[in-house]
Amino acid sequence: MLAYGAIIQPMEVELPENMLRCPQCGGDLRADHGQIFLSCPYCNSTVYLDKSQVVFHWYLTPTLEENQARGALARWMAGNLTIKDLDKKSQVISTSFEYFPLWYFKKSDSKGKESLYLEPAAAISVSELRNLRLPAGDLKRYDDTIAAHAHPPSVPLRTALGWLREHHNVGEGEVQEQALVHIPIFTFKYVFEGIAYTTVVEAATGIVFANIYPAKAEGPYLLAGGAAALVFLCLASFPLVGLVSAGIGGAGIGLLACSGLGILAAPLLFALAVWVAAKV
Ligand SMILES: [Zn+2]
Repeated sequence: MLAYGAIIQPMEVELPENMLRCPQCGGDLRADHGQIFLSCPYCNSTVYLDKSQVVFHWYLTPTLEENQARGALARWMAGNLTIKDLDKKSQVISTSFEYFPLWYFKKSDSKGKESLYLEPAAAISVSELRNLRLPAGDLKRYDDTIAAHAHPPSVPLRTALGWLREHHNVGEGEVQEQALVHIPIFTFKYVFEGIAYTTVVEAATGIVFANIYPAKAEGPYLLAGGAAALVFLCLASFPLVGLVSAGIGGAGIGLLACSGLGILAAPLLFALAVWVAAKV
């Protein structure tokens, strides 16, 4: 029973120091105040201290230099997703490199099939990054040599587990392995028609991620396709119209008219499609 007037201090939710155990060997881990990344003195595992628990900490080594990442960006811009000649019509205004933190979750089903899931461990404008396919064999123990470029995690494991349920319907109990992974990324900001966009090139695989970009317009393609369908539907109905209005003879004339006009229309429609493809 608390005496009247007793001041109840808000409790800091923090694991007592003696509760920190290495997830690999079970050895006691001692973190200095505020330290979140450390390595186990017994087995050399590197770990991250989340508010709720200790997890393994990995990173992925980059294979791309900045100019190669820039090349990957240029190819993506010249590709089929973005508007024509985006590589020439846009201007890259900034480039930065960092190791970005992701939460990594592994689940195996009853047949032993493994599934990996990723969720961002810090705020990012390109959330598509969660669709990255991690080359699992290439994960290395986190070490201090990359610390200068490592973006600190700010999303608690709890929150990421909530997203995992939301996005993939995977419950916490099904997760067999969870870890923090720092992945190397180049972030490019570019401007197109006065609007700034952000695109990420993952520096281990060269895969490009973007949430919002000047996309190729689908309207003209649909229009060209629609026009072609309409013309041929119309032509195909000629024999039927002929049959209904003038019997078998009418059907014959309709068929002739249909194939004749079809031969005329085909190259025109083809030309239209080519023109659309070149223009958009
Ligand atoms: Zn250990």
